[in-house]
Amino acid sequence: MSASHFFSKDYFQARDRFIKSINELKGQGHQVSHDTLTLDCKGPNQENLCIDIATIGSIDSDNLLLYSSGIHGVEGFAGSAIQLSVLEQIKNASPIADYCIVFIHIINPYGMAWHRRVNENNVDMNRNFIKDHQGEPEGYEKIDTFLNPKSVPPKLDLMFLPRGISLLLKYGFTNVKQWFAQGQYTRPQSLQYGGDALQQGPKMILDWLKKNLNNTKKVFGIDLHTGLGKSGYDTILVPDDIKEDKYNILVSLFGDHVSPLDPTQGVGYRITGDIHSGIVKEFSSIEWLTITQEFGTFGPTTVFKNLRAENRWMQNNQLNNEKDIMNHWSRKNLLNTFNPNNKRWQQDLISRGNTVFKSVQEYLSKLD
Ligand SMILES: [Zn+2]
Repeated sequence: MSASHFFSKDYFQARDRFIKSINELKGQGHQVSHDTLTLDCKGPNQENLCIDIATIGSIDSDNLLLYSSGIHGVEGFAGSAIQLSVLEQIKNASPIADYCIVFIHIINPYGMAWHRRVNENNVDMNRNFIKDHQGEPEGYEKIDTFLNPKSVPPKLDLMFLPRGISLLLKYGFTNVKQWFAQGQYTRPQSLQYGGDALQQGPKMILDWLKKNLNNTKKVFGIDLHTGLGKSGYDTILVPDDIKEDKYNILVSLFGDHVSPLDPTQGVGYRITGDIHSGIVKEFSSIEWLTITQEFGTFGPTTVFKNLRAENRWMQNNQLNNEKDIMNHWSRKNLLNTFNPNNKRWQQDLISRGNTVFKSVQEYLSKLD
């Protein structure tokens, strides 16, 4: 089966295929359960939007693999494709006995359905898993007028590069990257907004985990993303407070794909309110190993430029029909930025997604 086959045309097709795939697993003797968390917002044609959670194996196992996708809506095209391809592998293997796998399919279905990275409240959900939704990085106000102009974007933005370069020269690349990416809780219309409260999706996911993880001792978490790094290459991002012994385990599993711990090196940056740090805080008796598998698409300038243009159009346009906005060039660019229509890229994702997943399966099967 070609890699492209796993990429769906929209959120609704992805969801149907995910459900079909777990039902097939059930039919082949695997232990499978499925829960649907329905959100109160709708898709472009008033469709229901749901987060699907499937458990394979016994939820009472000591060890668990938590495999999530689509927290950044539009990145869910890749996340869903990788999850579907992994399910195909599981289908052809013997039933899982000594640990269980929890798939969370598309944490931000609104974003995937509407081709946005954020949710229905303009919230970056990977900055939302936090208790205190307040404050912003000390440098955010210095870059806010550049990040979030109060006008619709021109298609050919001649001022983007000169203004951007002058900011980088003034404050330094590492500072600007950090201020931009960390997450802010003060400007609802601006980029990297983490919300004023825990959003409905994160709340339902945390409730589900609290209800179901009663006997779990160890969890390996993998969250799938796109948009950072070289095209098709995956970086394994690790928590910035990770202990050395855990870091060494990750290096032994994934080699030089693991990002360096020094924030001035590599593609990463420190963030607040990401999904793993939020979940880990709620389950202090569980031992956690968590990674973000982040696949590159385009260079950082292109990614940032397209993110900025899409949010700028969304916040300043005079249209009140959101369907028209979906057809706007800025939204189409955003989709292509995080889900490039490129067979080679799709192959790289499916291949490396499966490699990393299998390494974690092997690691878990060897635990006591
Ligand atoms: Zn992401």
